[in-house]
Amino acid sequence: MVKISLDNQDCIEQHREAYQVLGRVLEDLASGKAIYTIGRGGKSKVLSRASNRNTVARKYYTKLTDLCDNYPCLSPEHIHDVVSKVKKYEVSLNKKMVKRAKRILATIYSYEKFSKGMSPQYKYGVLSWVANPSGWGAWEFLRRLNVRSCVYCNAETIFSLLLTNELPGGGITPKYDSKTHKRSALDHFYNHSKYPFLGLTLSNLVPACTRCNTNVKGARELNHTKHIYPYAESFNDGVKFAIAYKPGKRIVDLEESDLHIAFVPRMESKIYQKSLESVAFFHLSKVYNQLHKIDALTVLKRIEAFPQSYREFLAEKYPGIKGMVLDYVCRGSSLNPSHILSHNLSKLTIDIEKQFGVADKAC
Ligand SMILES: [Zn+2]
Repeated sequence: MVKISLDNQDCIEQHREAYQVLGRVLEDLASGKAIYTIGRGGKSKVLSRASNRNTVARKYYTKLTDLCDNYPCLSPEHIHDVVSKVKKYEVSLNKKMVKRAKRILATIYSYEKFSKGMSPQYKYGVLSWVANPSGWGAWEFLRRLNVRSCVYCNAETIFSLLLTNELPGGGITPKYDSKTHKRSALDHFYNHSKYPFLGLTLSNLVPACTRCNTNVKGARELNHTKHIYPYAESFNDGVKFAIAYKPGKRIVDLEESDLHIAFVPRMESKIYQKSLESVAFFHLSKVYNQLHKIDALTVLKRIEAFPQSYREFLAEKYPGIKGMVLDYVCRGSSLNPSHILSHNLSKLTIDIEKQFGVADKAC
């Protein structure tokens, strides 16, 4: 639940170029035209039959086109409004028909195709998919976001890894190949099954570790009114880690079992309640207390061993050791809040430093 930004990555432009044609497919569905897709063996098959009657599905598609003309690029500012309007509208429709419409929409707004670096083509009522020549797809999106730590837990590494010697650079990205392009998961903030039209919406895709995405969240739903929405908010603003340890023990003598890691609300923040709900949703208290006490303990002991005076000594004696490198030498992670998205356990380290050390002075 660390804030991600879609700005300055050129992702929106690239995505619009690749997927804007899907807006026409949705319009045609709404107007009752037959839509075909390419099946196995290259044969065309019916995706949606022509319908002149004002069916439930057509009403549903029409509502969707009224709300947004380009779902893949739906902005973080509008996504919740669209979701709540669609949700309300669905209540008045026949459930079976909506389910059928959603199956068709899942084929159109295909996250699977985006994952494979494929873009849609739509001609004469036939929707087909081809490899995007620029290499644009989920792998490239994740690479450009430059997120290196799970947005939900800040404890696991996020990666987009290329298993070839041809490294991305100079604006050229090798075409997607499943054998060489490996990456972490992108979680659908709003579940793909319930909102298939958001299947490849960038503002709905959150870089997440397997534990948060699959093991913990699974099919459960997040909700922006209750939980932190990472394209707008950060739990760093709403809660802080607080370490408690066995009274009477000196920090140098502490062991893992003497420690407890708590999440304390920043009561002055408007989003402290949401932050706490998100922490509970992803079971972060259990995650940190069962898996990361050793990391918290290490930071505590480093604070004892390398106080501010030692940092100053190092910086003076070895001018090359500064900034983030100095943070790593003395604390084991970055102490810069703007680095939380790219360094595992950075929030934990910063908050412990603030509780026991001098992060506010050092940074
Ligand atoms: Zn995670």
